[in-house]
Parts: sequence; C-alpha cells; structure tokens
Amino acid sequence: MVILQMSKGEPSSKFIKVRCPKCKNEQIIFGKTASVVKCLVCEKVLAEPTGGKTRVKARVLEVLE
Ligand SMILES: [Zn+2]
Repeated sequence: MVILQMSKGEPSSKFIKVRCPKCKNEQIIFGKTASVVKCLVCEKVLAEPTGGKTRVKARVLEVLE
C-alpha cells in the first residue's frame, strides 16, 4: 500500500541562510525543519525543532522567500 503525503505550501516556510558560528561555513537551511540541522563542514548543530518552530542556533544572514 502506498500512502501519499501531500505537503501544502505553508506561508511560514522559508529558506534561511545562516553562518556557522564555529567554522564560518555559510549554509542554506529550511526555515521550518522537523529534524536537527547540522553544519555540513563541522557538524555543529545549526538549528533544531522545538514544538513546531525552528530554533536557529547560528547567525542568520538572509531570509530567502
Ligand atoms: Zn561549521
């Protein structure tokens, strides 16, 4: 059995560009993540989900809409 999940575009769904506070790597992450986002270079946690919202633990450089 195949279950299709249709994800409706939510207004709050944005991409944000952040800079890793540890290694200065710039990375674009989804603004509303359901899982922990780590830096691709040093694996520092950049964002983590907290009750439906995303807590960004890195410096936000830009919000892309
Ligand atoms: Zn890093």
